Amino acid sequence: MKLVLATRNQGKVRELMKMLHNRTGAGEPVEIISLQNFPDAPEVVEDGQTYLENAAKKASVIAKYTGLMTLADDAGLEVDALNGAPGIHSKRWAGDDATDAVRIAKLLKALDGAPERRARFIAAIAVVHPGSDPEGVLGVCEGHILQTPRGESGFGYDPVFVPDGYEQTFAELGENIKNKISHRAKALQQALTLLCNLKTV
Ligand code: IMP
Repeated sequence: MKLVLATRNQGKVRELMKMLHNRTGAGEPVEIISLQNFPDAPEVVEDGQTYLENAAKKASVIAKYTGLMTLADDAGLEVDALNGAPGIHSKRWAGDDATDAVRIAKLLKALDGAPERRARFIAAIAVVHPGSDPEGVLGVCEGHILQTPRGESGFGYDPVFVPDGYEQTFAELGENIKNKISHRAKALQQALTLLCNLKTV
């Protein structure tokens, strides 16, 4: 049985593949593939009002296109001092073609001088069996935003996000620790139950 990861973000594909590896339960083995195997798959517009809506839309569109069981995620960073921004707009907050460095620079500028830097990553994961309704779960990772970026691993806002209980950023902690404590790891933990149920559909 194949499971499609509905993303072109190679950072995310790597994370999800590592986390899913050997964790999809008993029964028929699951071969995990990504949109790299479907270069002509439609671009899904993320126009939902919530992370869950966006994840469900991506999973449904890609499951319909591929005819395969599909997992999609949608995530964002919510910063208290910015009233929850960039939030659901995290990807395009600094413009459609912005790099991670540009997004981070915009975030640090917006927080310049702010003493209160509490933030959280939120991830929604939706899974769909072709022909069925999507099912979704949410994961949250609390932390704070640094004054300057630190670390090389991960992607997105990882170099400025320090999760609660740690002194280092996600980008310094590296993928082994991030994949245990992140918003996506927490959502995925719950999504595995959904996936195991779908495998038997
Ligand atoms: P997406 O819509 O799920 O791709 O996430 C939107 C944006 O949130 C990404 O482009 C990243 O900038 C940011 N983001 C989501 N998850 C993470 C993460 O695990 N680390 C750092 N940034 C993230």
